[in-house]
Amino acid sequence: MKIDFNKNNDGLVPAIIQDASTKNVLMLGYMNEEAYNKTITTKKVTFYSRSKKRLWTKGEESGNILNLVDIKNDCDDDTLLIFVNPEGPTCHTGTDTCWNEDNNQSFGFLSELEGVIEDRKKNQEDSKSYVASLFRKGINKVAQKVGEEAVEVVIEAKDDNEELFLNESADLLFHYLILLQAKGYKLNDIVNVLKSRA
Ligand code: AMP
Ligand code: ZN
Ligand code: ZN
Ligand code: ZN
Repeated sequence: MKIDFNKNNDGLVPAIIQDASTKNVLMLGYMNEEAYNKTITTKKVTFYSRSKKRLWTKGEESGNILNLVDIKNDCDDDTLLIFVNPEGPTCHTGTDTCWNEDNNQSFGFLSELEGVIEDRKKNQEDSKSYVASLFRKGINKVAQKVGEEAVEVVIEAKDDNEELFLNESADLLFHYLILLQAKGYKLNDIVNVLKSRA
């Protein structure tokens, strides 16, 4: 990989550290050529510390190392994007990221929807909300709804009406998210079970 270490006349390039799995940005560090080479050979992210003025393997004191997954160069070869699997919190303050964020998996729109459903559970008295009314009826009723939607998916799977199949599938997923919330679980809990089987 061709890297332009001398763009800033200091032999350093910024290295953006991103979690390979959650895609969250964890920290920013700087690498010189030696740090880069050491990162490649040891598979543990090593920076050049501008304050310590020496190579610094992240986690050398704390044990919170960054295991190398992949490195990408940017469009003009002067900034690295480094994908890692972190062990422990990345920031020395003890937080997951250097911007005080939790390094949680995000499922995009499904996570947004999960947030809305969580909100409805907290505000169950909301008489205009269908989701709030389901929470008021209790877990058994929600579970029964999931069963009904599952049966509707089965029925539509036999037909070739694509629109009905997609709509019933959406109904099933939606009510399943409500059931998870009613039981006090998150989508992430289920994904972790799936991951543990892989
Ligand atoms: P560590 O590399 O985790 O053993 O931490 C050693 C030292 O490096 C800490 O005491 C901090 O001074 C510094 N340090 C660790 N993590 C970070 C970080 N994410 N950003 C900036 N400095 C850090
Ligand atoms: Zn660039
Ligand atoms: Zn930090
Ligand atoms: Zn339906």
